[in-house]
Amino acid sequence: MTGGSADPAWLTLLERILDRVPKLDGAACARPGVDPRLFDPAGPNEPPAAVAARHTAAQSICAGCPALDDCAAWLDTFPKRPPRGVVAGRRPRIAGRPATDATTDRTAA
Ligand code: SF4
Repeated sequence: MTGGSADPAWLTLLERILDRVPKLDGAACARPGVDPRLFDPAGPNEPPAAVAARHTAAQSICAGCPALDDCAAWLDTFPKRPPRGVVAGRRPRIAGRPATDATTDRTAA
């Protein structure tokens, strides 16, 4: 390969990857003023109460997101290894426990 810009195999792979990226118009987590770190998984030394508070805030944002259904559908395409952190109002799964979501988690506002 000479570094040309039109490698069909490479473009096909990129198209396949991009086809899996959801179009989340109006995503609340991308709005100005929203701290994306709220959605992050627990940090290595982060106190559990701080993680819970962040994730509760993130779930609240998801609960009012116009893209929630599309986001949840995308998340469901990863049944075995979902993205880490809060996505589609769901908290990260803890081994041995079921996932919670914005509609069932009583700590969500
Ligand atoms: S549902 Fe939550 S994670 Fe998904 S796009 Fe909306 S705010 Fe972001």
